[in-house]
Amino acid sequence: MRIDVLTLFPEMFEGVFSSSILGKARDKGIVSLNTVNFRDYSNNKHNTVDDYPYGGGGGMVLKPEPIFAAVEELSAHYVAEQAESVKPRVILMCPQGATFTQRIAEELSSEQHLVFICGHYEGYDERIRQYLVTDELSIGDYVLTGGELPAMVVIDSVARLLPGVLGNELSAVTDSFSTGLLEYPHYTRPVKFREWEVPEILLSGHHANVKRWRMQQSLFRTLDRRPDLLQGRAFTKEEKLWIEEWKKQNEE
Ligand code: SAM
Repeated sequence: MRIDVLTLFPEMFEGVFSSSILGKARDKGIVSLNTVNFRDYSNNKHNTVDDYPYGGGGGMVLKPEPIFAAVEELSAHYVAEQAESVKPRVILMCPQGATFTQRIAEELSSEQHLVFICGHYEGYDERIRQYLVTDELSIGDYVLTGGELPAMVVIDSVARLLPGVLGNELSAVTDSFSTGLLEYPHYTRPVKFREWEVPEILLSGHHANVKRWRMQQSLFRTLDRRPDLLQGRAFTKEEKLWIEEWKKQNEE
């Protein structure tokens, strides 16, 4: 996968792209992570990328020309490099976009080329939204100063799903949301810490029982913290019984 990030602050990505799992994925050649300062595509002598809003009002608006020029050059370059016609997903980071979820991360992880546009200031010229981008993503209902941190969040969660990025010890398969449920509780050594002990079933070595306990705990945790995730889920007979039991216990 190739990921290009259009930003006015490429230095913000240096640590994130070269550390930990993203850094390893990059070193292994699984993902190519690049930043592009779209100020370099400005077509005026002062290198400006923003201007006053038509109609007045506060704040500056990002101009269309540098962003269109940068995305078009990156797309053409990738197509020439791969010798095949690949349309990138052009993702605008924006608090007005669809709220980013694990489902969207999974969907994006099957793409070959992602281009992220990080905004700043008051907003974007609307024509960028209308005629250039394929997706608008928000990381939540709050406003940050720029799209860099949101782009890092999305890139991290997409890259960790690419085959070969996570080792077995960090498998994404049982992660919260991937299964439609929150993940079950984890324990490690020591068996007894202060007066608190690890649940006995985890020490039993009985794989089927451990699996069943984990499934039950996942379900209980989701019922407790995020019942909204369970809407529309088809429960097994056993799960229905567990839910009844959980409800009785929580009513007491
Ligand atoms: N005036 C804009 C509005 O009300 O929608 C907010 C602009 S914000 C100060 C500047 C930039 O930060 C946005 O263009 C976007 O790139 C980024 N940004 C801020 N909050 C975000 C969020 N929750 N998710 C994704 N991007 C965000």
